[in-house]
Amino acid sequence: MSPRYPLVEFGGGDSLRQSHGTAVLSKFMEQLTAASSSMLLLDYDVTLAPFHTERHLAYPYPGVVAVLEKILDAARSRVIIVTGRPVLEIGPLLRPLNKLEIWGSHGLEHLMADGTYRQFPIGPEVATSLSQAESFLIAAGLSQRIEIKPGGIAVHWRGMPAVEMESVRTRTQRALSALVNQSGLRQLEFDEGLELRVEHPNKGDTVRSILRDLGDPTRVAFLGDDLTDEDAFRALHSRGLSVLVRPEYRETDAEIWLEPPGELIDFLEQWRDAVSA
Ligand SMILES: [Mg+2]
Repeated sequence: MSPRYPLVEFGGGDSLRQSHGTAVLSKFMEQLTAASSSMLLLDYDVTLAPFHTERHLAYPYPGVVAVLEKILDAARSRVIIVTGRPVLEIGPLLRPLNKLEIWGSHGLEHLMADGTYRQFPIGPEVATSLSQAESFLIAAGLSQRIEIKPGGIAVHWRGMPAVEMESVRTRTQRALSALVNQSGLRQLEFDEGLELRVEHPNKGDTVRSILRDLGDPTRVAFLGDDLTDEDAFRALHSRGLSVLVRPEYRETDAEIWLEPPGELIDFLEQWRDAVSA
């Protein structure tokens, strides 16, 4: 096990965190340069793309697609998107990248680089609960706000005025209150919305299943921003580099923190250089 680095508990503030992060990062990049194979695992929203009130317009930060293309061209890294969104939504946002491997819906769907797609089944009891959730939300007058996803149902209040948003949130919580504590389900809060979905797979399960088939020398990193990414950070613990990517620091199990877009692009360019060497 590699040592853990308690970033905030040091009490040294940003400068200490930064110097620690720089040291961890340069060591990782050295190992990446020497490695014959590597894998770059990336969450999508907020990590690669800034928040947008219209989900289908949440394009990556400028420069992200170009540098990912170079990393793929170098043919020494697998690049895998691990997202809570359905697989279908991600491809159009990352054009012209193709041959991307995507684990969508937190790992319930898998699109392989060769285009093969599979979706994993969910249990009948959980499926029943999710369709009950849909009925309850429709009865609460929220049909316009619902998104049915593989293994989950989400309610969105992006871009709404504050008062209306509060009303939608309250009605959602009331409608789902009978279901949230059922086994096999979990409630996720995300930027301006809430989702009730199957507890497993989560991103941690997905990362563990990806790692299971890897040879030891493969260098791995996972970049993510939100609470669902913490499962992946913990799954990667001691096996690879976990990276929190978000505008503000928060307590995390990730080893280092990058502030997008500048530090994110810099990280990806270092990765490109390491695998192109
Ligand atoms: Mg995200």
